[in-house]
Amino acid sequence: MSEEKSSEEGRFSPLLNRSDVQVLLKAFIDGALADLKPELNQAGEFTYPDAEKIMGSSTKNIVETLESLAEEEILVREESMTVLACPECGDTRFLIEISGGQPASAEARSKVIESLVSSLLGRRLICVAEKHAFHEGEGVPKKIYSYRLNENKRSLLEKWVMDLKPLVEALRAKGWRVDYPARIIGKSGVEHVFTLAVSYREESETVDAVIDIIVSSKPVDESALSIVLKAMDVKADKKLLLVVPSLSDRARTLFDYYKTYDVYILECQTVSEISDALFDILTSLAKIKLKEV
Ligand SMILES: [Zn+2]
Repeated sequence: MSEEKSSEEGRFSPLLNRSDVQVLLKAFIDGALADLKPELNQAGEFTYPDAEKIMGSSTKNIVETLESLAEEEILVREESMTVLACPECGDTRFLIEISGGQPASAEARSKVIESLVSSLLGRRLICVAEKHAFHEGEGVPKKIYSYRLNENKRSLLEKWVMDLKPLVEALRAKGWRVDYPARIIGKSGVEHVFTLAVSYREESETVDAVIDIIVSSKPVDESALSIVLKAMDVKADKKLLLVVPSLSDRARTLFDYYKTYDVYILECQTVSEISDALFDILTSLAKIKLKEV
């Protein structure tokens, strides 16, 4: 048992640094979510509406994220149903081709062959996504899953999943606009996800600060520099990066060198310190900003 524990401690999934993943896991931990069940939407795709509501992401993104979380054994997936899928593209939406009508005599022969094949392989189906035609018997079974929290990981996750809701509420109580998680289209047209985006005036069009949080079991390496790229692309007055527990020496040297991009770095020992640290710095930054205006 103790052996398992030490290997668990050593493995830290980078997925946990995605703010949309954080809010999803928080909902599981709090019991707001128990089981994510698939639902068929109007477009004929299987979606997870509860996850979409919480994560504010597209159907495709959600399915990929849930699968990755299941691979990391953070979530447990269970077969919910099996449906037929197109052997070419995996689409699960079809038109059924009904042969019939009045075939011209020249086509009669091929129609006979067609109906013989159909009786052996099933009806001819055409997938909606890519218009692949195939016989029912050639379709491949596709499993549709439901997902729930892996209870064996609960105590580990509780250590890493932060509860930013009280912070977000406290900042909103100041009359600020707070997006959590925040999705911002950059100048490049690429969409970036930040943990938080804050505007000091509710009706303001501009973003005053974007905040990213990286949590790790060891000093955070230079991969944290990705925030510099994201921050460059997004119009935000101040960019904050909060790391737990600290930056590695290499990463710190690089950040010092690229200071020009205005990224403020905060280091917190544990996840529990994050809220207070952010509240303090954002309040100070707002005071300066609002004085300038
Ligand atoms: Zn297809």
